[in-house]
Amino acid sequence: MSDSEHGRSTKLVEGGRRKDWRGQLVNVPVERASTILFDDVAELSASRPGVGTYRYGLQGTATHWALAEALTELEPGAAGTVLYPSGLAAVTTPLLALLSPGDELLVPDNVYGPTRKFCETILKRMTIVTRYYDPLIGSGIADLIGGKTKAILLESPGSLTMEVQDAPAICAVARERGIVTLLDNTWATPLLFPALAAGVDVAILAATKYVGGHADVMLGSATATEKYYQRIQTATWDLGHALSPDDAWLGSRGLRTMAVRLRQHQESALKVAHWLKARADVGLVLHPALPDCPGHEIWRRDFTGSSGLFSFELKTPGKAARAKFVDSLKLFGIGYSWGGYESLVLPVDPVRSVSKPPASNLVRLHIGLEDADDLIADLDAAFDQAGR
Ligand SMILES: *Cc1c(COP(=O)(O)O)cnc(C)c1O
Repeated sequence: MSDSEHGRSTKLVEGGRRKDWRGQLVNVPVERASTILFDDVAELSASRPGVGTYRYGLQGTATHWALAEALTELEPGAAGTVLYPSGLAAVTTPLLALLSPGDELLVPDNVYGPTRKFCETILKRMTIVTRYYDPLIGSGIADLIGGKTKAILLESPGSLTMEVQDAPAICAVARERGIVTLLDNTWATPLLFPALAAGVDVAILAATKYVGGHADVMLGSATATEKYYQRIQTATWDLGHALSPDDAWLGSRGLRTMAVRLRQHQESALKVAHWLKARADVGLVLHPALPDCPGHEIWRRDFTGSSGLFSFELKTPGKAARAKFVDSLKLFGIGYSWGGYESLVLPVDPVRSVSKPPASNLVRLHIGLEDADDLIADLDAAFDQAGR
């Protein structure tokens, strides 16, 4: 176990690597198990489900516990981390664990699309009502809280349009009223925004993105305070979610280099974003570290850096020109997800219920670990194509 006084890069290297779990190896190995054998009936009868206790595959093995412990250590104030087979499951399962029929949930209007769909289908069928709020609402969230409001979801920066939320203000209001807060922290990770220290109760990662880091694993995590951790862990077991140990191991392997990768994503993404901002055929550049981005001042106040994902407005009008621009790129792959070592591009059209996106004709970029100058040359050529 790493010392809580250590820096975050040291914690990334040391986290979860207990000698009991790794033996003489550097990293904790893959332990595959459904059945775990007991010595006798007395040991069987005494066994209780718990993290760190070999009992049944559903409760995991050292491979899972090591990743969960390493993630817990990155969030000062956390009691534990629950692992999931996808980022989406890490959003939906804690909500199922904490909400009951008749409850109301507040969700930012720029929330990740599949999270919105879960609210509109499964939660709705359970008579759990979702009310969307302007992501820039800040402490004004108090006006939306009613007697049935039981949870507030945050996502900062939000999907596609990147608004940065005033999480400390929202969480302060929620805590005063006894309402649980859950933050999707996928863009920043705890390295750029330690969420629990800002007042969040449950910090969620689509670990598929920067924790995995190599576009080859689906993974999620929810790191929670003492008050909520056990409830979420128990509900996750009750629902039968089991993460493959191979995927947990890929998470641990990715995590060790997350800080260095993020530093490079940050440097290259800023270079590309500033280059885009200087172009006449680009409108708003929605990168939290640039003043165009709604909530930029909050990013400056609360975050220690930026990552590789942002959007920009293509001024050349029409979806056809946008498609031509995207299709002309050679180094940017067209595909879902992000956070891997490779650059990606998507044309995006935000869906809103109560607020307006800051711009339209948006293109979302994930800046990977290629040379930034090569990416800029590729973008330059694609602008030429789109303008023809
Ligand atoms: C990708 C993503 C998710 C879902 O993660 P998956 O592992 O793809 O299920 C959740 N939230 C945000 C903000 C994401 O970008």
